[in-house]
Amino acid sequence: MTQTPCDVLSCVEHERLEFELLEVRTRGQYLTRLRSLTREEQAEWDRREQRALASLVDHELEHGCNR
Ligand SMILES: [Zn+2]
Repeated sequence: MTQTPCDVLSCVEHERLEFELLEVRTRGQYLTRLRSLTREEQAEWDRREQRALASLVDHELEHGCNR
C-alpha cells in the first residue's frame, strides 16, 4: 500500500467535503420520503450529489488523502 501524505482524520477540508456530500444525500432522501419529487427535482438532487462527490474525489486526488 502507498503511504498517504495526509491523514484523513486530520484533513479538515476532506471532512468538510464529506460532510457536504452526506448532507446533500440526506436532504435528498428526506425530501423523497416527504413527497414524491418531480423528475426535474430528482435530477437536480442527483446533480447536486454528483457535484459534491466530484469535489470530494478531486480533493482526494490533489491532496492524496483518500482512504
Ligand atoms: Zn485532504
